[in-house]
Parts: sequence; structure tokens; C-alpha cells
Amino acid sequence: MALVMNINCREAVTLIGGFLDGTLARRERRRLEKHVAACDACREYLEQMRAIIAVTGRVGPEDLSDDALEVLMDLYDTYRRDLDESS
Ligand SMILES: [Zn+2]
Repeated sequence: MALVMNINCREAVTLIGGFLDGTLARRERRRLEKHVAACDACREYLEQMRAIIAVTGRVGPEDLSDDALEVLMDLYDTYRRDLDESS
């Protein structure tokens, strides 16, 4: 695993919600941006979340309940599997 990842992908995914609605602390945002810059999967995930927001208008904390997070992680795992299979 690359050393650039001071946070792991699962952490990044949990931070992305706050990143997108602007509630993330500046320090956490920087950590996330660093990770996303180095991680294709999370960058793609962030783009997907932005696309979802463009459609739904917003993503609030209530949209990132544990259940919602599990759904997102499933999507994310599927995406990672697709990446592995296509490479
Ligand atoms: Zn990642």
C-alpha cells in the first residue's frame, strides 16, 4: 500500500460527506484532498457523489446514516472489484 495514504479509503469515504456539504474541518479536508489526489478509486467516488448531489440537490448528515453508509460502501466495493477485474 502506498505511503501517501495517511488515511485509508474507508475513512476517506466517511469524510467525503462532510467535505461535500462543507462541514468538514479544514485539517480533515486537507487529509481527504491528499488521499483523493493519490487514490483513483476515491477520486472517482467523490465524482460520483458530486453527480448524485447534482441530481438530488444536496447530501445532508441524515443521508449518511449508518444504513446509507453501508449502501455507499457496497457501491464502493463493487467499484473496486470492477477496477481489479478490468486491470
Ligand atoms: Zn482511497
